[in-house]
Amino acid sequence: MKKLFWVLYLIPFLLLPAGKVVRAENPLRVEVFPKGIKQGDVFLVRTSAPAALSSIHGEFQGANTGTYEGLVGVDLNTKPSRYEMKVVATDRGGHSYSKGLPCKVEKTDFAVQKLTLPRSMVDLDPKTLDRVNRESKKLKALFEGVQRETLWRGAFVRPVEGELSGAFGVRRIINGQTKSPHSGIDLRADEGTSVVACNGGRVALVDEFFFTGKSVILDHGGGLYSMYFHLSETGVSEGARVHTGDLLGRVGSTGRSTGPHLHWGMIIRGARVDPLSFLRLTKYLQD
Ligand SMILES: [Zn+2]
Repeated sequence: MKKLFWVLYLIPFLLLPAGKVVRAENPLRVEVFPKGIKQGDVFLVRTSAPAALSSIHGEFQGANTGTYEGLVGVDLNTKPSRYEMKVVATDRGGHSYSKGLPCKVEKTDFAVQKLTLPRSMVDLDPKTLDRVNRESKKLKALFEGVQRETLWRGAFVRPVEGELSGAFGVRRIINGQTKSPHSGIDLRADEGTSVVACNGGRVALVDEFFFTGKSVILDHGGGLYSMYFHLSETGVSEGARVHTGDLLGRVGSTGRSTGPHLHWGMIIRGARVDPLSFLRLTKYLQD
């Protein structure tokens, strides 16, 4: 039964025409790292061809992966299932090649956390609710922007040393109400500890929000953003170009926070992914 499923699954994309001409021999080589993909993971797609390509793009659930080497994010709420990844390339002679890859997304066992917070931080008054809505619209608009230039390079680094105090994807129940899952990780560190850029990018936002407190967001290009929340102070301005390890601000407890920590979040083409899964890509991302 399983085999039949694979056969049925593979046939449609092998027959898929891509562009004007599809050559019988397909020179594209597509590799995916790491091999096991779970909800909330990011994975690397590496494509190679014997001839120079004039364009290449990949698709996974409607999102582009980028150029020769692309990162693909699997949102934490992606249904565990088998999906198809498609890579389409055009060479300088105008010939198009398409390659499909079966991708199986495994289930991640996200924990459930019960929290008690002051009522004023959970049951918001109309004025605060208005502010929260405005701030979430601003973030949504920011993440919809896709800058084509890739500004990140090589391996990603931890923005602060410090133990994990809040895991990614935790289903949160605050004062008895189910809230949205934790879309980043919390790293416990002393107030004032340096927070650095996890990779190269441009400062897309420096602001103070109700939930996230003093916040810095970096745009790494290609729809990849990193977030640094609850800072005590910020040390960069919007528009500045930063490189891996550059100082962005200091650990604090601003916004809705129960103590000094850094909330580190990563989003790629709208998919909320585990920042630690970027660190797991290190061995594949050397310069
Ligand atoms: Zn957090």
